[in-house]
Amino acid sequence: MLLTNARVIDGTGRAPLERALVLVEDGRIVEVSEVGLDPPGLEGAWDLGGRTLMPGLIDAHAHLSSDVSRSPGFGPPPALHGELPRPRELGYFVLAKAARVLLGAGITTVRDVGSYDDEAIALREAVRLGIVEGPRILSCGRIISATAPGGAIFTTMYREADGPDDMRKAVREQLRRGADYVKLMATGARSVLAEDPEPAQMTRDELAGIVDEAHRLGVRVAAHVEGLEGARLAVLEGVNTIEHGLSLHREPALLGAMAERGIVLVPTLSTFHDLAERFTDDFAPALVEQAKRQLEEAYATLAAAQDAGVIIAMGHDSGPPGDNAIELVRMVDGGLSPLEGVGAATRGSATALGLASEVGTVTPGAIADLLVVDGDPLADIRMLRDPERIWMVVQAGTVVASRAPAVSQGAPA
Ligand SMILES: [Zn+2]
Repeated sequence: MLLTNARVIDGTGRAPLERALVLVEDGRIVEVSEVGLDPPGLEGAWDLGGRTLMPGLIDAHAHLSSDVSRSPGFGPPPALHGELPRPRELGYFVLAKAARVLLGAGITTVRDVGSYDDEAIALREAVRLGIVEGPRILSCGRIISATAPGGAIFTTMYREADGPDDMRKAVREQLRRGADYVKLMATGARSVLAEDPEPAQMTRDELAGIVDEAHRLGVRVAAHVEGLEGARLAVLEGVNTIEHGLSLHREPALLGAMAERGIVLVPTLSTFHDLAERFTDDFAPALVEQAKRQLEEAYATLAAAQDAGVIIAMGHDSGPPGDNAIELVRMVDGGLSPLEGVGAATRGSATALGLASEVGTVTPGAIADLLVVDGDPLADIRMLRDPERIWMVVQAGTVVASRAPAVSQGAPA
């Protein structure tokens, strides 16, 4: 596959290449070069007409659940009284639709950070086996939490465990289920009235047990972190990613340690907008008030993390599927330059997933997961949310979505 006449934002933070050529062989990028002039007539080339080519977007914090409560209008219409109960298996069709929509929006990789039952693993396998079109998916299996009120709400999304040995067993169980990495709850959750998100929810020994066991077995660790004490334990024990992490601005030394150790921050601004602004009728008033404070803190932490040189990733943590780039827009509103924002949503996220050598950049050797957009996201980052501007999506060298006229493939004029 040969793509010509492209404006390339390669995801590394470098300035865009103009009139560039990208050559793909066997699903991987083999050449990226700025040719300067129109290339000679190359048979089978896609002439991008100066459109922007960038790495496919990577969502580092998604819940690929058939629960569409955060995606009004996306799933089936609500059941009416008198209807027969709906089969639980309908949920798998909702998941398949989400996968297709994500890919069509240019999201070529997703890290699922917790779904009910093993839905994300089932969807990952459906995509991997070619049954369903969708992004590459990484799943944590079930979230490892200390016994806590959240377990009563999130039921099969959680594996509750207590004591360092049980934490290790919980890690092993997730790998047995087919998890790609491990997620833990270092603190309580802002969406659970009976949990205080401020103190650490597990002891240092418990958290250390998870991290040690996961790393010993060769998988990464994502930590749900809200309050500062949980942040401290997670950073000191060396988790790989901090999810939310909104309190970190209060202790810049922790951000410094994250930058030094390559611990990635996934700020998930959208989830705070959800609770503070979007779904205020659905939550207890005290949680809405708390979310308003947390929203401000999340933006403060984004800016402080950027100043400290922390690697930042894009995690939507909201719905509907396909609108994930709103998180990128919000990170830019929060102070990242558009180029930094695109870098966060591509290479930053790939780094969060431990896949930086495989995806997230348009560089030789990388898997050809690519997004071509009609326009310049560096001039208007909001265009990445507009389905009309998503011109082409390429997954491992195969075009999986395209608005390009068929004549574009063939000898250019
Ligand atoms: Zn989440």
